[in-house]
Amino acid sequence: MQSRPWLIDAHLDLAYNTLEGRDPTLPLEQYRAADPMAKVQRATTTLEELRLAGVRLCFGTIFTMPQGKNSMSDATIPGYTDHAGAKQQARQNLDVYHRWEDRGLIRLLKTRQDMTDHLDSWTPDSPLGLILLMEGADPIRDAADLPYWVDQGVRLIGLAWQKTRFAGGTATPGPLTDAGKELVQAMKDLGLTVDASHLDDAAFWDTVEIGPQLIASHSNSRALVDGNRHLTDDMVRAIAGCGGMVGLVFCNSFIRRGWKRGQPRPTLGDLALHAQHYANLIGWQRIGLGTDMDGGFGAEGSPDPIDRYRDVPQFLDAIPTEHREAVAHRNWERWLRERF
Ligand SMILES: [Zn+2]
Repeated sequence: MQSRPWLIDAHLDLAYNTLEGRDPTLPLEQYRAADPMAKVQRATTTLEELRLAGVRLCFGTIFTMPQGKNSMSDATIPGYTDHAGAKQQARQNLDVYHRWEDRGLIRLLKTRQDMTDHLDSWTPDSPLGLILLMEGADPIRDAADLPYWVDQGVRLIGLAWQKTRFAGGTATPGPLTDAGKELVQAMKDLGLTVDASHLDDAAFWDTVEIGPQLIASHSNSRALVDGNRHLTDDMVRAIAGCGGMVGLVFCNSFIRRGWKRGQPRPTLGDLALHAQHYANLIGWQRIGLGTDMDGGFGAEGSPDPIDRYRDVPQFLDAIPTEHREAVAHRNWERWLRERF
């Protein structure tokens, strides 16, 4: 275990979990005992679990839930219906990260200097480094509002989750809207990165045409699982072609076609099939982790034998030895040092 490489995880929803009444600052046993979602899922991810797995840096989302759309849980958070409501939720996410930073639990990495300092001076006592990724852009009023969010530290933005005012999204197809095109152009001008995960195909190709920096923080392959939540081979090639990265997501229904809760779980070897498929298209140098392990699917929805986040490094055993360190952190680290 000790010999496994350290990790960068490109997709965790740490703050949003607190909006659902959870406290990822607790050790996992206490977290599970106090978890209001315990009836629907077995929690896996706390700050301590991330440390035990060797995560030194993650992209932490500002995630906002539209009204009436939380199918994964019986949480009672009212969803937003307009920009103001989305912005309010986003501010709540930000407040969580700021409180954790005040307690020394995380370090927000807002600039290239912050990021390189964190990686270069990392010690086992260092807090988790966290880069803000906005998942679903409805908290942004319009392109002119973008500098406000950059000041807050947001460096990556996924325009969609489900459809937003800017782009078609998962199971809600559509192109970039006019406001979406303006936002992507403004992101390009500011050197920000578009997260293509959740973008519908039409919106994805509109984005490629504008040409911002592009990654997919948490997306598996549509060659293995159907639906617009997953990347086609052409999309993967387009992301790699502009120097981007793809993060592997540890959600069972995104690993095995047709998987439903209660069925035998896919394995880490099944997840490795997505990595191998990507590698066949673009090589191993643009593949990393974007586990989404606290994204609402729990241990029941994670590949066998994962029970808690500290088990995540076992995935590396399922890919070729010579590429383990690259997938664990070196590929994301290279992308960050070149592009962040
Ligand atoms: Zn997501």
